[in-house]
Amino acid sequence: QDDQFKKVVSHAKEYGYVFQSSEIYDGLSAVYDYAQNGVELKKNIRDYWWKAMVQMHENIVGLDAAIFMHPTTWKASGHIDAFNDPLIDNKDSKKRYRADVLIEDYVGKLDAKIEKEVTKAQKRFGDAFDKEQFLATNPRVLGYKEKGEAILKRMGQSLENEDLADVKALIEELEIVCPLSGSKNWTDVKQFNLMFGTKLGASADTAMDLYLRPETAQGIFVNFLNVQKTGRMKIPFGIAQTGKAFRNEIVARQFIFRMREFEQMEMQFFVRPGTQKEWYEEWKQTRLKWHLSLGMGAENYRFHDHEKLAHYADAAADIEFKFPFGFKELEGIHSRTDFDLSSHEKYSGKKLQYFDPEINERYVPYVVETSIGLDRMFLAVFSNSLQEEALENGTTRTVLKLPAVLAPTKAAVLPLVKKDGLPEIARQIVDELKWDFNVDYDEKDAVGRRYRRQDAAGTPFCITVDHDTLKDQSVTIRYRDTMEQQRVKISELKEIIKKEVDV
Ligand code: ATP
Repeated sequence: QDDQFKKVVSHAKEYGYVFQSSEIYDGLSAVYDYAQNGVELKKNIRDYWWKAMVQMHENIVGLDAAIFMHPTTWKASGHIDAFNDPLIDNKDSKKRYRADVLIEDYVGKLDAKIEKEVTKAQKRFGDAFDKEQFLATNPRVLGYKEKGEAILKRMGQSLENEDLADVKALIEELEIVCPLSGSKNWTDVKQFNLMFGTKLGASADTAMDLYLRPETAQGIFVNFLNVQKTGRMKIPFGIAQTGKAFRNEIVARQFIFRMREFEQMEMQFFVRPGTQKEWYEEWKQTRLKWHLSLGMGAENYRFHDHEKLAHYADAAADIEFKFPFGFKELEGIHSRTDFDLSSHEKYSGKKLQYFDPEINERYVPYVVETSIGLDRMFLAVFSNSLQEEALENGTTRTVLKLPAVLAPTKAAVLPLVKKDGLPEIARQIVDELKWDFNVDYDEKDAVGRRYRRQDAAGTPFCITVDHDTLKDQSVTIRYRDTMEQQRVKISELKEIIKKEVDV
C-alpha cells in the first residue's frame, strides 16, 4: 500500500502533474502546485462536474463568489466558534496530534486485535470457519468491539460538551491499555481554529480582520436571494460553485488528500421545509452515479452515514473512495436544514425568505448540499488510473489509464521517422485536431518508446504517420488501454476520438 502510494506521488511529479509548492525553497508543507498535465486534468474534472451539475440541470445555476467575505459571515456560519480541531501535544516526542484522530488510531488497534482473533480461529477451524458467526458470537471479539464503541461514544460526548479534560484523560487511559506513542506525558487538549486570518486595510487601528474562506458554501448562502430573484428561480433549485478554500490543517499528510489550500466543488440545493430527507436521498444517489459514470469500479466506492452530526445538519453521509491508503471521504452530502440562511437573517437583519406560489407560503428554505474536493477527486482518479502491467514479452509497462474524458492530452501524433515528409503530414493532423482536442506532437526516439511515454502520461490515443500514409491517406491509431492498433483514414480521426472522449 505504502509502495503504491509512493509510486503515485513520484509519477505525479515525473509526468508533470503535481509539484510541491516552492520546491526550490524545500517546499511548503501541505501546499502543492499543478503542473502542465495536472492543470489540464484538474480542469477536465471541474468541467465534468460542472456539466453534470449546471449544464444538465435546468434548475441549477452557477456562481463565482469572492474568497474574501464580510467577517460576520463566519460568525453567522458558526466557523468562528465551532470550526475547530482538538489538539494535543506529546511532551516527550514533541509531536502534535489531532486528539480525535489519535483516539481513532487507538480504536484501530482494537480492530487489529479482532483481525488477529479471526486469523487464529480461521487456522483452527479451517473450512468449517464461519466468519460472520464468529464475529457475532466470540466473547473476546465482542469485548473488543464493545470497548471500541464505548471509547468513540465517550469521545463524541466529551467533544460535544467541550469537556477537553476528559478527552485528555481518555488518551492517557488508552495509552496504558494499548500503547501507541509509548509515552504518558501529554499536554492539555486545546481547540484550534482552522481558519486562516488576514487583514484588510493599511493602518493598524482601522484594519479589519478577515478570513480566507474555509468553504465555498457561504458565498452561495449570502447570495441566495440575489440569485433567486434575478434568475427567477423556483424552489427546488440549486446554486453551484467551484473555487479555492483554505484550512490550517494540523495533521497534513497524504499528499493532495489533505491540503491547506484546496479547491471545492459545491452545490447548495434549496428545498421546501419537510422535503429535505427525500432530496438528501436523491442527491446521494445522483452523486454516486456521477462517480460511477467514470468507470473506476463500483467496488471502490461506499457510503458512510454519519451518526455524529455537525451543528448545522440533520443528516449527513460521505461517499468514500478506496485510496491507496484505504477507504476515505471523497465527497460529503449534507442536509443542512435552514441553519445557514436563518443564521444569516439573524446576523444581517435582512430577510432571506422565499415566497412559494404553489402553497402560498413564505419560508426560509432548507438546504441539501453536495460538497467534493477537486484535489481529492484528482487523487482518486490519478491513483486509480496508475497501473503496472506485465506484458506477454516479459516486460512491464506503466500506464496511466485515465478516463478518456479526463485525460489532459487526448492524442499524440507521431511521425514514424523524421524525414520523407512524414513530420509535415503529422503537423497537418495536429493542426486539424487541435481545434477540438489537446493534442501532442512527438518525433523524438523510436516509436515504441514514444508509445510508452504517452501511456505513462495518460494519453488515450497515439496516431502514427508512416510511409504508407503518403499513398493511402491513412494512419495507425493505437489505443492506450488495449494497445490495439487500427488502420484508419485521416479524415475519420476526429470522429473516432470524439466518440471516446465526449460524454
Ligand atoms: P475531513 O473529515 O477529511 O477533514 P471534512 O469532513 O472536514 O473533511 P468537508 O468540510 O465536508 O470535509 O468538505 C467537503 C469536501 O472538501 C471533502 O469531502 C473533501 O473532499 C474536501 N476537503 C476538505 N478538506 C480538505 C483538505 N484539507 N484538502 C483537500 N480537500 C479537502
